[in-house]
Amino acid sequence: MKPIVDEDLCIGCGACEEICPSVFQVVDEKSKVIDPEGCEFQDCCEAAEENCPVEAITLVANA
Ligand code: SF4
Repeated sequence: MKPIVDEDLCIGCGACEEICPSVFQVVDEKSKVIDPEGCEFQDCCEAAEENCPVEAITLVANA
């Protein structure tokens, strides 16, 4: 799965970075995906998606 962040929805709360810091990093109050492949190797992406308060994170299947 690859994570996508909708920056229009993101409020920069930092939850995704706290849960999954190797994949998400908040820069200028918007979450950036710093390692799109990172979800392949760990389980924290689902937790980040579930804990985003504005549902800005989507996990998409690898093509
Ligand atoms: S958890 Fe959601 S709202 Fe919070 S920084 Fe991450 S993407 Fe943005």
